[in-house]
Amino acid sequence: MKETNTNLIHEATGAAAVSPSGTSDDPVRAVPERKVFVKTYGCQMNVYDSQRMTDSLAQQGYVTTQTPEDADLVLLNTCHIREKASEKLYSALGRLRKMKDERAADGRDMLIGVAGCVAQAEGEEIIRRAPSVDLVIGPQTYHRLPQALTRVGRGEKVVETEYAIEDKFEHLPAPGKEQVRSRGVTAFLTVQEGCDKFCTFCVVPYTRGSEVSRPVSQIVAEAERLAAAGVRELTLLGQNVNAWHGQGAGGREWGLGELLFRLAEIPGIARLRYTTSHPRDMDDALIAAHRDLDQLMPYLHLPVQAGSDRILKAMNRRHTGADYLRLVERIRAARPDIALSGDFIVGFPGETEEDFQATMQLVRDVTYAQAYSFKYSPRPGTPGADLPDHVEEAVKDDRLQRLQALLTEQQHAFQRGMVGQSMDVLLEKPGRLPGQMVGRSPWLLPVIVGENPGEIGDIITVRIISTGTNSLVAEAVAAKRQADGAPQALDGASPGKVLSGFPSGLA
Ligand code: SF4
Repeated sequence: MKETNTNLIHEATGAAAVSPSGTSDDPVRAVPERKVFVKTYGCQMNVYDSQRMTDSLAQQGYVTTQTPEDADLVLLNTCHIREKASEKLYSALGRLRKMKDERAADGRDMLIGVAGCVAQAEGEEIIRRAPSVDLVIGPQTYHRLPQALTRVGRGEKVVETEYAIEDKFEHLPAPGKEQVRSRGVTAFLTVQEGCDKFCTFCVVPYTRGSEVSRPVSQIVAEAERLAAAGVRELTLLGQNVNAWHGQGAGGREWGLGELLFRLAEIPGIARLRYTTSHPRDMDDALIAAHRDLDQLMPYLHLPVQAGSDRILKAMNRRHTGADYLRLVERIRAARPDIALSGDFIVGFPGETEEDFQATMQLVRDVTYAQAYSFKYSPRPGTPGADLPDHVEEAVKDDRLQRLQALLTEQQHAFQRGMVGQSMDVLLEKPGRLPGQMVGRSPWLLPVIVGENPGEIGDIITVRIISTGTNSLVAEAVAAKRQADGAPQALDGASPGKVLSGFPSGLA
């Protein structure tokens, strides 16, 4: 969910090379090689979509490149969450137009495509304002990318933003093992798209459509393929992921808790996460999964957005501050070592200082390990944009500063509480110094471990020796390869749980 997608806003570029056959395991090139540069804006769901588009383009003979100058096709996978998303897109397209003109002067073609949520929201307007764009394709139709490119090759300008009737996931090629490996030992897996909640600040229900859940069999098959290629940690994605309710065997509907148990049975899958969740969709079965499923990591992104009931109502969040606090209590009773992360919006229309203080109080009551906070900015077409009493920018700035100071203090306290603790770390990549490796703690924090602690994909036990701004430094205390999905019991502790007491009262 996209409160949500504020939660991990970043930019990423397509990186790994793939063969035109769609699997790097196949050395035979059936079609001439072309290069695609994919720039991904926004959330993890866009990262996943870019990977799937890259897999699909591989079948058309495209390999990825890191530079647009080098590319035969430049694809911008856009995000509508950030302020002025369209303006930023048009200025990026202005730069690409110059590049395209230079290439044309050299007698070479460069195609420009726009995908993602801005593509969905703006549609034909993009080609009207930026005629150098050849293709506009929405998040629900990107499985039609190959056909769209064929039409572009015939000289058409293509806009594909109608919601597809067919299931796009059924039409997307699976990446080869080498391609999966090149992306690392952690992987995203989209299980749900769209949202029916209609929070008044959010564009997601308009750009991604209503909630759609992928069926159990499709998700399990994709997870098995990822695990067979060496993936050890899966993060299930959805705009409102805990609203997932997919069809299982015999047509019975499953909830996310049941799905997590099923995925935990896949050999090799040692860790599971999911993001992003709405408080109203945290049902008993999902909370029980946090209690009973060792592979489910003790970290939960659970946005609340505000602490004042008046503002929550204006946001159409359909819960109160007290509902949220009660829910947090139930989750912590089930999994005492769970760390919470959240999203906050300050300066929503009509927010008074008293309302803002309710948000500050809720933050003090919950204590977050990490959080994302933003000033409200209206999104065209959302009900919030038409509300009266917009808050002055200077007031929003001041509130954001105070909120972020509190959240940062909590984050640092959480990290300080880790020092001296032992925990399992999944090694993901080499560090900057020789012999160093970087992994992830169960609480999603990067952990830097020295002295050749193991191989990528190993889960090792470390002791935290210090904390940086956004990472931990550790020494290995046991380097045991875990070949199956079961977390190891260490020093007599329960499998998958931290060894010593989890810090509490962090603020
Ligand atoms: S409408 Fe609300 S619940 Fe749905 S994605 Fe947006 S913020 Fe999340």
